[in-house]
Amino acid sequence: MEIAVFSTKKYDTLYLRPALEANGHHPHFLQTRLDNETVVLAEGYTAICIFVNDSLTAHGIEHLAKKGLKYVLLRCAGYNNVDLDAADKCGIKVARVPAYSPYSVAEFAVGLMLMLNRNLHKAYTRVRAGNFSLEGLTGFDMRNRRIGIVGTGKIGLLTGKICRGFDSDVVCYDPYPNIDRAKEYGMRYVSLDELLTTCDIISLHCPLLPSTHHMINSETLSKMKDGVMIINTSRGGLIDTVALIKALKSGKVGQVGMDVYEHESNMYFEDSSDSIMLDDVFSRLLTFHNVCITGHQAFLTREALENIAQETASNLEGFLKGIEPKGIVKI
Ligand code: NAD
Repeated sequence: MEIAVFSTKKYDTLYLRPALEANGHHPHFLQTRLDNETVVLAEGYTAICIFVNDSLTAHGIEHLAKKGLKYVLLRCAGYNNVDLDAADKCGIKVARVPAYSPYSVAEFAVGLMLMLNRNLHKAYTRVRAGNFSLEGLTGFDMRNRRIGIVGTGKIGLLTGKICRGFDSDVVCYDPYPNIDRAKEYGMRYVSLDELLTTCDIISLHCPLLPSTHHMINSETLSKMKDGVMIINTSRGGLIDTVALIKALKSGKVGQVGMDVYEHESNMYFEDSSDSIMLDDVFSRLLTFHNVCITGHQAFLTREALENIAQETASNLEGFLKGIEPKGIVKI
């Protein structure tokens, strides 16, 4: 089968090509991001493979359904970028890779906590410039600090487990709690309100849904402890960035680690270093010395890329053999 693979980077090709070719398929790797304008590039393909910032709207789906599209293979866990109702109506099957390496993201989230806490981002540039002063680099022991995990799915639970290794006090919130596993990892459930009001570090690990959009907003920020650290490796839309900037300016929020940004889709995964930054909100965020932003790289480990490739190939084989694949996305 000919498969159009959108938003391809070198690291995708390296892992996806052998996984798809092993089953006799012919992947066509395109660097282009899929959206309503570029959807013509997918015409005539039975399967397309897309990533987090590709966008498959009802318009795109209806158009491609007429051109023979049958399968959408998401090589990521989230599927908020695909209109599932439209896919269902057009008989197009959608699959994702629900868990490729929760360790990759959990370890990255904790990495951001440590970097911000111990000011490693500042120390790195200081020493390179010959500045060995320690002024302004004071951090805190993670031990006995209260860390709040919002969303105790695969990644949130592991993040909490790693934090327990520091002897931190880890509390968590999830409307669908996993009580046994959380207990096993030494975490305890509290109400969202208690988590927001009592934690020194708050790490977000829930999906972006209409109900979680801007869950971190001026009201929830005002409840938090002064100087709280917020980590978001989940989805940018969980945070109202304008409200976050206000809270950073007032000192309410002490540190922010963000691997995701609510308006990242036109920006992330590309080298735009020669272009003018047009997003004023993002530009303002970059001016804070206590904000660390990374470009949606938390997933990026060799193990995760290998798993993504294998699971994507296996999802396609499942569809072709009429066996419901593990990663099927249903409405
Ligand atoms: P998961 O589905 O295993 O867990 C999500 C958890 O969030 C579930 O337990 C669910 O009950 C809970 N939840 C739902 N609504 C909630 C709410 N209102 N408040 C609190 N919790 C709520 O997902 P996961 O694999 O752990 O992934 C978590 C997030 O990380 C997802 O948004 C995913 O898109 C993101 N992610 C980011 C990267 C990256 O590279 N930055 C990589 C993979 C996943």
